[in-house]
Amino acid sequence: MAPTGSDGGRAADAQRRAQRGLTRFLMRDMRGLRRLIIPSRLEASVPEWIEAVRALVEQYGSASASLAADYYEAERVAALVTGRFTVPLVGPPPEEQVGNSLRWATKDIWERDPDDPATTEAQRQPLEVRLVQAEKKSEAVAQKLVTDQGRGTVREAVHQDRAAVGYARAAALGACAFCKLMATRGLTYKSAGSAGRDVNSKFTGDASVVKFHDNCHCQIVPVFKGQRFELSDHAREWERLYRDYAAPYPGDQLNRFRQALADHGHMPVL
Ligand SMILES: [Zn+2]
Repeated sequence: MAPTGSDGGRAADAQRRAQRGLTRFLMRDMRGLRRLIIPSRLEASVPEWIEAVRALVEQYGSASASLAADYYEAERVAALVTGRFTVPLVGPPPEEQVGNSLRWATKDIWERDPDDPATTEAQRQPLEVRLVQAEKKSEAVAQKLVTDQGRGTVREAVHQDRAAVGYARAAALGACAFCKLMATRGLTYKSAGSAGRDVNSKFTGDASVVKFHDNCHCQIVPVFKGQRFELSDHAREWERLYRDYAAPYPGDQLNRFRQALADHGHMPVL
């Protein structure tokens, strides 16, 4: 019997847990860097803090890519794929991108003129509050940058591996409505750009299947030639809820879907 590929199952769950565990350590280390921000010397200390966080993101990002590569290789073996393939490890995002993201996350800590109508509510808060908010945003930004490196590694491997036919999104039971909806899309095929030249393969279908928000722990599951793809039981149930309660309402589908998930006990308690 052909081996089965799915967005659910033990390997996908284990990979998500491993990646999630990694970002927990990242958060712990980021909190350790908090002391670098000196409230009386913001101008000088924030750039130093950004540099330190950037180094962490780089270190954890490469761990995320390695975890993803191990997972990909194990899935390839489980799918009974023969022939060698070396998973290309996706590198860190450009320094510039990490710096910009962190500058965005900390933009509200700077002192503003309270009489300027352009000053937002968040910017009027006391400095301690602004610092806590900035830290939360920075953690979310770092989580995404790191996890994206692992997800990017699986995606790139699927792209380059002649034995891979596509990928699916694996969402956690506690994921948000958007992620659950993307998981119901199932297998997204890559198609050869020109016959016999897999390097030029492109992905068909919906690009949002690989769009991830901050604090999103969804993973990408590779699917190989010879595998049958089956949606997990939970994704099939989400698909049914979408079809019955959301699909008939263009323009309001995501809201309707979120409500249907909540009504049927599929939304995490916040
Ligand atoms: Zn989500």
